[in-house]
Amino acid sequence: ARFEDLHLSKELLQGVYSNKFQKPSKIQATSLPLILNRDEHGMYKNLIGQAHNGSGKTACFVLGMLSRIDANEKTVQAVCVVPTRELARQIEDVVLALGKFTKIETFLAVAATEEEKKAPRVKKVTAQVVIGTPGKLMNLLKFKNIDANTVRVFVLDEADVMVATQGMGDQSMRIKRYMPSNVQTLLFSATFADEVRELADMLAPAANKIVV
Ligand code: AMP
Repeated sequence: ARFEDLHLSKELLQGVYSNKFQKPSKIQATSLPLILNRDEHGMYKNLIGQAHNGSGKTACFVLGMLSRIDANEKTVQAVCVVPTRELARQIEDVVLALGKFTKIETFLAVAATEEEKKAPRVKKVTAQVVIGTPGKLMNLLKFKNIDANTVRVFVLDEADVMVATQGMGDQSMRIKRYMPSNVQTLLFSATFADEVRELADMLAPAANKIVV
């Protein structure tokens, strides 16, 4: 498989190569065609992926998000929910790296630092990609700082960690309810114990399922 065959935009392909990715990893070769292409009904299908860190899964959902964004629209078009601030920051870095040749902006929705608490900076979020932890994202949605009506891709990474962390599974479900009904949901987890499977099937119904 080659990145050139995935119908990525010129800008995203440049981003991939400037990251020194020569060819798609196994999970990328399997999942990217399923993520990036519409099905026979013209719909973008949900995807549930079982993959470990190191497999290259981050680029799968990051390219999935970036490829659906209209950079001219200053609206939130992709939302990524993860269990920790550190992971949110890492994913933001990957979005900025792979999206280097696009004009896409990111917003990190993680718990406020002491500094931000004194001077809250959030008005209405206009970045196209929002990455965050469940509690903070829930707040921004509730107080309408984030308008979810324009979201096209909804990502959950490390779903197993979320399920194991008090309240995060439920919060993810509540966040999902803000998303439009036709949102494409991409859910990744290293393991799929019953609880994770249940969450995955609720958040990403009728998904393509891949195991790497
Ligand atoms: P991940 O599993 O998403 O955490 O990615 C693991 C590491 O693999 C990261 O450092 C990526 O930069 C790197 N990586 C992802 N995809 C590729 C690729 N196609 N070729 C080379 N390195 C990659």
